[in-house]
Amino acid sequence: MGLKDKIYAHAPNVVQNLLISLFNSIAYKDRYGKHYKQFLKVYSKNKVLSTKELKELQKIKYEEFVAFTLKKAPFYSKFYQKINSPTKIENIKSLPILTKELLRKNCEEIYTIPKSKAVLSKTGGTTGVALEVRFTKKDVEERFAILDHFRKNYGYKLGKKTAWFSGKTLLNEKDIQRNRFWKSDYLFKVRYFSTFHISEHTAKYYLESLILFKPKYIIGFPSSLVELARMGKKLNIDFPIKINAIFGTAETITEQLKYELETYFKTKVLNQYASSEGAPFIVECPLGNLHLELQSGVFEVLDENNLPCKKGRLVITSFSTHGTPLIRYDIGDEIELSDATCTCGNNNPLVKEILGRSNDYLLSPEYGKINLGNVSNTLKNVSGIIKMQVIQEEINSIDIKICIDPNKYSLNDEKIFLQNWRERMGNQQNITITIVSEISNEKSGKFKMVINKLMK
Ligand SMILES: [Zn+2]
Repeated sequence: MGLKDKIYAHAPNVVQNLLISLFNSIAYKDRYGKHYKQFLKVYSKNKVLSTKELKELQKIKYEEFVAFTLKKAPFYSKFYQKINSPTKIENIKSLPILTKELLRKNCEEIYTIPKSKAVLSKTGGTTGVALEVRFTKKDVEERFAILDHFRKNYGYKLGKKTAWFSGKTLLNEKDIQRNRFWKSDYLFKVRYFSTFHISEHTAKYYLESLILFKPKYIIGFPSSLVELARMGKKLNIDFPIKINAIFGTAETITEQLKYELETYFKTKVLNQYASSEGAPFIVECPLGNLHLELQSGVFEVLDENNLPCKKGRLVITSFSTHGTPLIRYDIGDEIELSDATCTCGNNNPLVKEILGRSNDYLLSPEYGKINLGNVSNTLKNVSGIIKMQVIQEEINSIDIKICIDPNKYSLNDEKIFLQNWRERMGNQQNITITIVSEISNEKSGKFKMVINKLMK
């Protein structure tokens, strides 16, 4: 625990709220410095650029970025030793792919700045070893400019009343005893809700606080918000506040989750892809299409043989990772590209679907891979299930844990639920459904709907 965290942990609630405003004021200096405004201008020009012009800008940024990396990160100069003209975007396919293991093993030789000068981001690795990614202040300003530019389409800006659900640890024993599961930054009008304490017993307090706070926006983990929405339905608490938009972060939003959130909170849910390592951005436009942001990086979709394809592994090069440069990095997510065009005015190419983490899959002996979207679709026409987690340890069996509302969940619901699973997994799969009182989140506060122990 750092000194900052120690002071915070021992302070009374009023002081903690003030400290959050203070910490934010300091953090916002990094985010909203002199480069932020320039970047915001650059990204606002998206609308007047053709796809060709966007690709031209991408090429310029790529070549600058690779040249910078070769100069500053010793790992890459060795990694690309045998490559002809590695800075040329035409040669990108000849560069070796950077895996998570390579990044973790060689990070000291990849960092271009000392820790003291960096803005840090920890990523929870699936193997349990956390990796620390360093960003330059300018990188952070660019990343926030991209996000704010996207959110601006829906009227959002810093200072508008926002409820935030993220993986921050905010609460102490006293807060929990008093059923106070949030902290407020009165200066910037943000209320931070803990994502670690949402349960059947606490949901009422969360919803009451949210309704009294009257936010204009909700930002955070979709899984936490959907849990709250389901609890709200269970407790017959109507959500009467008019919210402009919900912005999901960190997790994949499936169609089913989106539908449930939009129905309960009566607002639009906007999808966006980014990662703690600093991936380039994919954002949803007002017409509901997902656009790649070509000025933020290069997106390659590859199959098992590293050949380009429509639906497959996402390999990224991200221009806002000068502190820990990521070139042709296998980020562990899968997407599907689309050939369609959008009439919203943004000429960036479209993504059909963000499929989520490469290990967010179940395997069926009959049908092969079942993706996260299909998993969450098993909740269709089923009422009374509040939380669900599926664990697969063997190819021919899955264990489904569910938390239910006993007043709504009936035998008929179980029948439909099982039927939905059979349609997706086939008849050869052993399916066990267990009703449990609680399913906990990951250490990061995020929730994993699928735990696949077959794939490492
Ligand atoms: Zn669009």
